[in-house]
Amino acid sequence: MKTVNVLIIGSGPAGLFAALWLERLGVDNITIVDRLPFPAGGLLNDGKLNFDYRIGIDLDVLQIDREKATRLMQEVKAVFTGFPQCHQVTYIEKNEKLNELRSIATENDVQFIAPEQWHWGTDNGKRVVEYLRGLLKKTRFFLGTEVSSISKKAGEGYHVICKTKEEDVTITARVVLAAPGRSGAYSFRDMADQLGIDHKFGPIDVGIRLELNRTFYDAVTDIVYDPKFIFYTARHGDKVRTFCTNPGGRVRAENYNNFKLVNGDALSSRKTKNTNFALINTVSLTKPISDTTEFGHMIARQFSLLGGGTPIVQRVGDFREGRRSSTSTFNSKTRHFEVCSATYDAVPGDITLGMPARIIDNLWESLKKLDKIVPGILHPSTLLYAPEIKFFDTQFPTDANLETNVNGIFVAGDGTGKSRGIVGAGISGIIAAQGIAEKYFR
Ligand SMILES: Cc1cc2nc3c(=O)[nH]c(=O)nc-3n(C[C@H](O)[C@H](O)[C@H](O)COP(=O)(O)OP(=O)(O)OC[C@H]3O[C@@H](n4cnc5c(N)ncnc54)[C@H](O)[C@@H]3O)c2cc1C
Repeated sequence: MKTVNVLIIGSGPAGLFAALWLERLGVDNITIVDRLPFPAGGLLNDGKLNFDYRIGIDLDVLQIDREKATRLMQEVKAVFTGFPQCHQVTYIEKNEKLNELRSIATENDVQFIAPEQWHWGTDNGKRVVEYLRGLLKKTRFFLGTEVSSISKKAGEGYHVICKTKEEDVTITARVVLAAPGRSGAYSFRDMADQLGIDHKFGPIDVGIRLELNRTFYDAVTDIVYDPKFIFYTARHGDKVRTFCTNPGGRVRAENYNNFKLVNGDALSSRKTKNTNFALINTVSLTKPISDTTEFGHMIARQFSLLGGGTPIVQRVGDFREGRRSSTSTFNSKTRHFEVCSATYDAVPGDITLGMPARIIDNLWESLKKLDKIVPGILHPSTLLYAPEIKFFDTQFPTDANLETNVNGIFVAGDGTGKSRGIVGAGISGIIAAQGIAEKYFR
């Protein structure tokens, strides 16, 4: 049986930054376990970095103030900008055009955030992971290895069962840091239940991904690569926001066990004629049901049913007229649909059949406002893909060091409700590492 000081579940940005900081703080004998050879999230796909304390973290959840968040962001930035293919794509200093855009947004009662942004592109994804791993000098990796259970052994720490294709290995760890990402959130939630770790349901974001001829959005994305527009709808008072913009990018599927969701990315070397971005509505549930996981899964399964296992796509021209899109007219020149060629092969249909009315109301109201700020985005050819759902649905109450109610079990990253993006995940990893080093290895 192997014995380690710290076992980290997950080699995404939360796990990697935690290991990096543990090493910097002098902690040795660290092991990272990941069921995949490469983490499957944003490090590998797209790689957009947002440096603004209002994006990707919740200061209250992390129990830090703006100054500390900004300091930690600078630390994360210093690491990523050492990767040669990471390029700055949004400059916020002395950018007069940003102020103009902000004024137009304010006139339309829309909040606009333009963070400093950097990007490396999906074609550099593996290289960035290798670069980050290369910074770790003392950490061991068990890749292609899944943590399947954790149990407390009096006087010994935690017994962590790690499954490879060939065998089960037990590792004894003094401290466990769980950074399982969204893909591992539910399996860790089950392990947490066995250990008596408190958790609760968090909000999810439900919406669509727009794809449009990039000429309609270039006026904005030339100023800010991934603009953040935030809407509070008049009809329902709900929050809707734009998210993950990919100028010259592609729409892609994100595979889950029982359904597919839509997502998007961009390459660094090859651009398409389109831009895509997500428009998502934050949904929290209270009584009588707070299970946002099941709510999101039901919407996703409904779309899966309607699309025969594939996401649905509808042209704005069809949506406006209240009719489904169909294969025979999908590229109709009479309707000007040829202006935008789809980059993802979704099933033409009707997104309003699968989405709750309240969410459709919110999305359409927000899109009409956005069309006033960026005229043309609601061209008939614009594509509305659904569903796009972000499952930030599991939250672990912790102390300021991100230690759970069970001593020696820390959490970080998206899968535990501590971040929503690469930079935030890195920040939470650093906070957890500082807490672990201070409390257990000083
Ligand atoms: C297609 C796509 C594109 C994205 N693009 C961007 C972007 O451009 N910019 C951005 O900021 N964010 C982006 N994101 C979001 C980003 O990936 C996440 O915010 C970030 O990766 C979260 O980091 P994390 O370390 O918490 O989790 P992850 O990066 O998801 O890493 C968690 C790791 O834990 C492993 N794991 C889970 N459970 C277990 C287990 N039981 N045993 C062993 N290993 C386990 C998983 O295999 C995974 O590798 C994107 C996400 C996707 C899916």
